Amino acid sequence: MKTMDVVDAIDVVHQAVVSNEAAIESLDRAIGDGDHYLNVLRGCEVLTALRGELAPLAPGEALGKIGMKLLSTIGGASGPLISSFFMATGKRLGNLPEPPRAEFAQAFADGVGAIKSRGKADLGQKTMLDVLIPVAALLTARAGGGGPLDVLCDDVSATAQRAMESTRDMVATKGRAAFLGERARGHIDPGSKSSAVVIAAVCEMLKERA
Ligand code: ADP
Ligand code: MG
Repeated sequence: MKTMDVVDAIDVVHQAVVSNEAAIESLDRAIGDGDHYLNVLRGCEVLTALRGELAPLAPGEALGKIGMKLLSTIGGASGPLISSFFMATGKRLGNLPEPPRAEFAQAFADGVGAIKSRGKADLGQKTMLDVLIPVAALLTARAGGGGPLDVLCDDVSATAQRAMESTRDMVATKGRAAFLGERARGHIDPGSKSSAVVIAAVCEMLKERA
């Protein structure tokens, strides 16, 4: 993993988020307060402006800076959660110039752990963690070797997609959707949708580079 992967991922993620505006927006309108798309978009916009400052840093330092920046720009419940992911990921990678796959898997797992402890949530509560936890588990399982990168990317995307779909039938016990009880059933969780969109975009980019 190189810093340019991080910097270029900002672009592809930004584009993917914009392309999925209607889907992300309508889900948070259905079971939240409708601001999730704008929260994520604002994050993408400030990171796009930050790219020049990230380029000279080590990947971990860039991720840490991303976390700090997002903390001050994304609002809502998701802002501090997403930002804690990047800060923990960056912390694990430190100033390693080119972290190997196993190190990245560990860093991703640390990021997910930070969201779990900050949001006091876990699997099955209809949140972004329902996508992030299975993806972290897959990355950890494939950390040692794990085969060709393009195959791993496809598997990660497919896992995120399936996990996102699984939130449709869940009742929420965290976040705003928890107030809806049974009425939240039948809708995918917005944070799971945006997480799957981001993961798919990064995987597609890495696959093309592999
Ligand atoms: P808000 O809920 O403040 O309007 P957003 O709309 O930006 O913030 O984000 C909503 C998303 O945040 C939800 O769809 C869910 O995935 C995620 N979320 C909410 N609470 C938690 C939590 N405690 N742990 C993990 N994710 C959460
Ligand atoms: Mg919202």
